[in-house]
Amino acid sequence: MGPGMQEEDSMKCVICKKSSTNAGTTTVTFERGCFTMVVKCVPAQVCPNCGEAYINEDVASALLKDAEKKATTGAQVEIREYVAA
Ligand SMILES: [Zn+2]
Repeated sequence: MGPGMQEEDSMKCVICKKSSTNAGTTTVTFERGCFTMVVKCVPAQVCPNCGEAYINEDVASALLKDAEKKATTGAQVEIREYVAA
């Protein structure tokens, strides 16, 4: 994967294998020990048939890094909206 913004391509849903995904958003939840982070409006490819959401690898790793950083501050719950880096 190169730098910069990339078009996310529609893909066949691997869960139900019936539909191709559409660009949309989803809510991502991370739990680490007693810490929970909820991020809303995360860009994702969403299956219109079963609702499975596929998040871009770069987005997922950025959110995970953020969650781990927040978990070390002693926070218990963090709920926010996704902001593109
Ligand atoms: Zn599906």
